[in-house]
Amino acid sequence: MESSESNQQEEIKGICYDCLRPLKSCYCKYTAPVESGIKFVILMHPKEAKHQRTGTGRLAHLCLPESEIIMGIDFTHNKRLNDLLKDPQYFPVMLYPDPDAWNVNREGFAEKLTDKKLLVIIIDSTWFCSKKMIRLSTNVNTLPKFSFANLYKSIFTFKEEPEEYCISTIESCYYLIKEMQGKGLSPKEADPEPLMNVFKAMIKYQLEMENKRVLGLIPNSHAKDHKYTKLKNIPEFLQKYTPKEFEEKK
Ligand SMILES: [Zn+2]
Repeated sequence: MESSESNQQEEIKGICYDCLRPLKSCYCKYTAPVESGIKFVILMHPKEAKHQRTGTGRLAHLCLPESEIIMGIDFTHNKRLNDLLKDPQYFPVMLYPDPDAWNVNREGFAEKLTDKKLLVIIIDSTWFCSKKMIRLSTNVNTLPKFSFANLYKSIFTFKEEPEEYCISTIESCYYLIKEMQGKGLSPKEADPEPLMNVFKAMIKYQLEMENKRVLGLIPNSHAKDHKYTKLKNIPEFLQKYTPKEFEEKK
């Protein structure tokens, strides 16, 4: 009892208030402001907010100075979101894969933006929860849909967990900025790489933690799940991303 109480206190004291990670595994050193000229609004399911382990919406927000996170499930009467949607300086779209969605290559898209800023609504949640959020939020589900001109695969796929075949929120922001830059619709000087760097740092941290569990160095709550009993190979492209915790021990 006593020790769990002091652990809790330790955790509260040791939290980074920017990335909401324990200080020892804070990802902020990989973040940097990406001045993309795009306004991203991340609609976060309250459940996702608790999934700090795999949620990337908050990490994206750390790199996108103009972005906002709004929490909720039904946003129909969300004042902040409705104010943004009504604001004439924006061309609001919902990021959603759809054959009829707008993308940077679609005729007339650049013209739509001539005097407006792209406002991209991203639903940051599991596929299951996001369907419900979209269905309930009539102010969002009536927006023009926007998607990518190219196909992308998440760098998460090597983990072979089905839900992670979907591209993450942070990767969506990254590829969208790249496509907008490719069309001259977003400032070329804005370097979007911090988005990918912080994402890689997060994945590497997770893999290292899973391996620590497998090796019995930290308690393993998934001990019966075979997925968590095999050591994970850390791919070459993640090697240089060293979260603080592992850096200090070197
Ligand atoms: Zn941090």
